[in-house]
Amino acid sequence: MSQTTCGRDGGRFNRRAALATMGAGFGVAFGAAPAQGHAKRAPVLPEDEGFMRMAIAEAAKGDFPFGAVIVRDGKVVSTGRNLGVTNNDPTAHGEMVAIRRFVADNPAKDLKGATLYTSGEPCPMCMGAIVWCGMGRVVYAASVEQLEKRIGQIMITSKAVAQAAPFLTVEITGGVLAPEALALFDKNKLKPLP
Ligand SMILES: [Zn+2]
Repeated sequence: MSQTTCGRDGGRFNRRAALATMGAGFGVAFGAAPAQGHAKRAPVLPEDEGFMRMAIAEAAKGDFPFGAVIVRDGKVVSTGRNLGVTNNDPTAHGEMVAIRRFVADNPAKDLKGATLYTSGEPCPMCMGAIVWCGMGRVVYAASVEQLEKRIGQIMITSKAVAQAAPFLTVEITGGVLAPEALALFDKNKLKPLP
């Protein structure tokens, strides 16, 4: 079952229906027919919670509560948090910041096959960047649909982006520590913006 189909909120019916239709448009739903090879649902691994806690700790320090860590060969090789306000850069999402930090000091090819952990499901921009970097796995906490209830989202799933890329297969694991990531959006926990 997709992480984006849980919960029942009639007020969101149209958006849910749009998401469902969008998924169907790509012809593959997690847990249904075999994937077309470009996005593959992956199980939670024992190490996932530990790395996700690091991503959530980054999120807690962000301008908006989003954070990411990139892991390669079992080690964190980069971290990022939302710096959209600090950097005057609406593209400074946690994932983008982590990628840019990595490639500032390392060959970009070393991202191939790496795993990116992120407190929020990657938006189309970030998922596109993850695909272009050739990362092999994405683990997220809160889904686009869950995040949309707290902060504006582009309603395209990471799966939909990955499945539109015929040259790469990305494993996607969703829902790891989602309640902890979502709790950062509680008003009394949001960091005052500069
Ligand atoms: Zn993003």
